Amino acid sequence: MLSRTLSVAVLSTIGLCAHAQQEYSITHLAGDVYMFSGGGQNTFMVTPEGAVVADPLSAEAAGWLKAEIRDRFGLPVTYVLYSHFHWDHVSGGAVYDDAIVIAHENTARNLAGPAPDEPLNQSRDYYDGRFAYYDAQGNDDGVLQFDELAARYVGLLGDADLDGDGVLSYYEVHQGQHRDVRPPDETFDSEVHRLEVGGKTVEMHYIYNGHSDDMSFIHYPEERVLMVVDIISLRRLPWFNMGSYNPEEAEEAVELAFSLAPDIVVPGHGDVGNTKDLADFYSYLQALKAGVAAGIAAGHSVDEIKANLLLDDYSQWGAFPNWRPTNIEGMYAYLTRDE
Ligand SMILES: [Zn+2]
Repeated sequence: MLSRTLSVAVLSTIGLCAHAQQEYSITHLAGDVYMFSGGGQNTFMVTPEGAVVADPLSAEAAGWLKAEIRDRFGLPVTYVLYSHFHWDHVSGGAVYDDAIVIAHENTARNLAGPAPDEPLNQSRDYYDGRFAYYDAQGNDDGVLQFDELAARYVGLLGDADLDGDGVLSYYEVHQGQHRDVRPPDETFDSEVHRLEVGGKTVEMHYIYNGHSDDMSFIHYPEERVLMVVDIISLRRLPWFNMGSYNPEEAEEAVELAFSLAPDIVVPGHGDVGNTKDLADFYSYLQALKAGVAAGIAAGHSVDEIKANLLLDDYSQWGAFPNWRPTNIEGMYAYLTRDE
């Protein structure tokens, strides 16, 4: 068996993904719950009957963590939970080939992907949020030319043209993004799915919408740890133009997170925090929405709103210089959308 360091190096050399080799680490959070970091974050819980991992992240990350859990704790990974279907969280699920994968039933549907002939479109779903970013600056012809791809996706999707016709269909983009993914073995359609394993409890709280239609928070009630992926970030602005965000539903998701009274909140990207940070994120969403709405009511253009709505209270947050203007654009698009 290769040493773990070497395995990671070899995988990153031969792997299809463009990720630079990552630094991987494990942090103890509370009780039997830990956080893994490396190109994203996840949480896992150890029990006498095996470990439960929430979100594989990538094949490299999953391979490292699976070996580390075996070496440190002498445990197999017996359950894998998917927070939602986005590729940067579910990729690598296939590495946990002897675990049971659990997800909301919408995640299973979303992972099945679009039909092979389905065009990229501008309706309100996850892909449009992304493809408004790619293709709106292109020719909006329902497929992606390679020169329409944002640079950071070229490595990921460079070999995704399955039929060799020189462009990427919606289906090919989906397949190209979701590497080494396993469909769930078990799905649920309730608001809360409770898993009891080894005398411990982990809960999946389904979030109706707000980021994707299949999102679950992962809650460890005994440790009072809550993992909230993508829909909530802490001391960091929401992603880019908030594509696929529904601000009202995002606020409801923060309220749900708050109601679970966690001591530790772990987002999928960025800083770990607590309920104070949840409250601050809620305030940010409200300030953004109120500021953009006031600008619209005053007849201002989106460029005028970007010039005037400074959101200074949040200037120390991550991604603020880059994403304040794009957050405003996204909120403007949301508030002026056709119903
Ligand atoms: Zn996501």
